[in-house]
Amino acid sequence: MKSVNLLEFDLDGLAAFCEQLGEKRFRATQLFRWIHQKGASDFAQMSDLAKSLREKLAGVAEVKPLTIASEQASTDGTIKWLFDVGGGDAVETVFIPEDDRGTLCVSSQAGCAVGCRFCSTGHQGFSRNLTTGEIVAQLWFAEHHLRKRLNLADGERAITNVVMMGMGEPLQNYSALVPALRVMLDDHGYGLSRRRVTVSTSGVVPMIDRLRDDCPVALAVSLHAPNDLLRDDLVPLNRKYPIAELLASCNRYLDAAPRDFITFEYCMLDGVNDTPEHARQLVHLVRDRVSCKCNLIPCNPSPESGLRRSPRERVTAFARVLQDAGVVTTIRKTRGDDIDAACGQLAGEVQDRTRVKERISTRAPIRIHREGPQGGSDTYNKQESKA
Ligand code: SAH
Ligand code: SF4
Repeated sequence: MKSVNLLEFDLDGLAAFCEQLGEKRFRATQLFRWIHQKGASDFAQMSDLAKSLREKLAGVAEVKPLTIASEQASTDGTIKWLFDVGGGDAVETVFIPEDDRGTLCVSSQAGCAVGCRFCSTGHQGFSRNLTTGEIVAQLWFAEHHLRKRLNLADGERAITNVVMMGMGEPLQNYSALVPALRVMLDDHGYGLSRRRVTVSTSGVVPMIDRLRDDCPVALAVSLHAPNDLLRDDLVPLNRKYPIAELLASCNRYLDAAPRDFITFEYCMLDGVNDTPEHARQLVHLVRDRVSCKCNLIPCNPSPESGLRRSPRERVTAFARVLQDAGVVTTIRKTRGDDIDAACGQLAGEVQDRTRVKERISTRAPIRIHREGPQGGSDTYNKQESKA
């Protein structure tokens, strides 16, 4: 019989599995705690479970870790793991330590089908969704590995925050994502508060609504452009769910969200979306319409895209326009870029089974505005980009 991977289950799922074995729910809770709180994978170790249950479990189930293909550590303390998930696919997970927290950036898919212009993952194409167990295994490994490696005291946590900002579009893998989030939030699991678990999305509107109903956690929306013309080009999913619909879903989400704002991520691309006029458009779009914070990310250049990071002065000027208009704005520090672990640099290894890569490579180049002697024009010209 095929062995069942217990990392695939949230607590309800594990209880149902234990019931099939003729066991009561509280046994599932004990088992869940052994796995997620203590990091145990050997049933023999689980001393408060009856020997008969331990033997039964050993016959039918396992706690299946991911296979580590490589590990890289940055000079700033960031650690990136590459996990082999079989079939020629590998995904990346990044640990980002800060003074007051430890954040794990988790992948949801091998590759991504959205195909954003500036993103390395997008340029690789899409292979497959990760399972719940593969999403949870990233946290399970990182938490228990880091506790030992960092010599943490009993009860101390290595990971205090999870961001679903690794490879993939989490809301295009919804059915695997939600149980994984439940494991993260469960007091018998990792006990993270809803405010410390963030789902980042390029804007899958119907799934934002479902997440609000099923498992509201902090939400980050990758906006990257202040108008549909530009966003259609940078984030192709915008053609399906344009900005007005996206912002309406953000407002609906706020009814149930654990935080009273949505984070809008805005990747600053040299000459593409970073002028003062873009900033003014962004103010007009969000001020008094959506309770939000804007997080400007200096773009981490991916070689395939040909796009470049906005110069520092342009990022600060952009931030000033937003701040002066009363829009709360931060500029993200880039971390781990010496090991390609920064946002948008996660590439892993992906078999592109849906030919996303091919479609991306045939796209017309985007118009990049370079400042000429007269300063040039601010406007983005769709016609030209399509020519
Ligand atoms: N698919 C989801 C989550 C993964 S991407 C999403 O798009 O939100 C995580 C974040 O990295 C997103 O905000 C994404 O827009 C950003 N990102 C992608 N490529 C980037 C790059 N080259 N530089 C900086 N940020 C990038
Ligand atoms: Fe996919 Fe997010 Fe990258 Fe866009 S930015 S291609 S949605 S991983």
